[in-house]
Amino acid sequence: MNKESIYGFTKDQLEEWLMENGHKKSRAAQVWDWLYRKRVTDFSEMTDVNQECIQLLKENFIIQTLQQHIKQESADGTIKFLFKLHDGHLIETVLMRHKYGSSVCVTTQVGCNIGCSFCASGLLAKSRDLSSGEIVEQIMNVQLHLDKIGQGEIVSHIVVMGIGEPFDNFVNLLNFLNVIIDHKGLAIAARRITVSTSGLADKIYEFTDTKMQVNLAISFHAPNNELRSRIMKINNAIPIEKLLKSMEYYIEKTNRRITIEYILLKDVNDHKEEATELADLLGHLKHQLYVNLIPYNPVDEHSQYQRSEQESVLAFYDTLKKRGINCKIRQEHGTDIDAACGQLRSKQMKKEKVQ
Ligand code: SAH
Ligand code: SF4
Repeated sequence: MNKESIYGFTKDQLEEWLMENGHKKSRAAQVWDWLYRKRVTDFSEMTDVNQECIQLLKENFIIQTLQQHIKQESADGTIKFLFKLHDGHLIETVLMRHKYGSSVCVTTQVGCNIGCSFCASGLLAKSRDLSSGEIVEQIMNVQLHLDKIGQGEIVSHIVVMGIGEPFDNFVNLLNFLNVIIDHKGLAIAARRITVSTSGLADKIYEFTDTKMQVNLAISFHAPNNELRSRIMKINNAIPIEKLLKSMEYYIEKTNRRITIEYILLKDVNDHKEEATELADLLGHLKHQLYVNLIPYNPVDEHSQYQRSEQESVLAFYDTLKKRGINCKIRQEHGTDIDAACGQLRSKQMKKEKVQ
């Protein structure tokens, strides 16, 4: 049996586990501090924790289960990590440098069952969910890499937009969020975290009810059911009307703005008509959301899709703006290093023929 990463515990769970195993509750705070503030990678380095407790932790957990497989650095400072999980699966994590801080994009599943027609991550069915420890580990690996560089750079923002559908791994996602938000640990503020979903409406209600104040992004990509179902088959099960209701609930309860993600696919969803239709559909929420227009990253296996012409992108943007919809064109990061989620992994898997 493989030992799990201790990063999988929320602070409450760690306290509970230590107490069940005969240790004081206050030990958890010490261990937590060593893990997330001093950031040691070996239990033996926790010098003020008693030997008996260290032994117990060593017997039951490890700190790092991920192995760095490949690291690609882009001219703009973006770094893409490919990690190998204990069972050999490969996952991607990306560090992006912005003016406002450093953000990490994490993976939540090995593959994805939603199978959107344009996405590299959905090419292979999901093999398994990541544990919450494996999701936290991705951030810790990046932070440890930055610590090594020694310039005090801190991961300040998180986007859950890597491989997988986070709301299809809901419990582990919530545990992960609890760990990284904890103010005695990494202390990443909820408002600096964004979770992106293909639109699992039931989970949007549940997520709202956690009252976490984490931002929500929705992969929308089309202004009507006919087109959306064609490019995202999940829309057959959860049509736009149902999705919109859950989004309205999130907005009403959290008072936070939603990000609408819209990949522009040449001649598919990038005409002015679609922009107008999108503005009509979302107009009643225009003060509570903004649209992120995403340049498409071509995927070899999905050759039916191409990136929109710059002219169409600007016309789409203008049409939305004129209708009072907040929007921006997403700035690209690391295009020279297969930055579209799932791309590096699928290319590497083809090369290595590993699963
Ligand atoms: N499963 C979740 C989160 C991961 S995908 C979701 O779908 O929201 C994160 C974002 O990347 C989504 O908006 C997705 O539509 C987008 N994406 C997927 N493939 C892409 C590609 N080839 N080029 C650009 N964006 C892509
Ligand atoms: Fe899965 Fe998101 Fe890719 Fe769709 S876009 S296949 S939901 S990872």
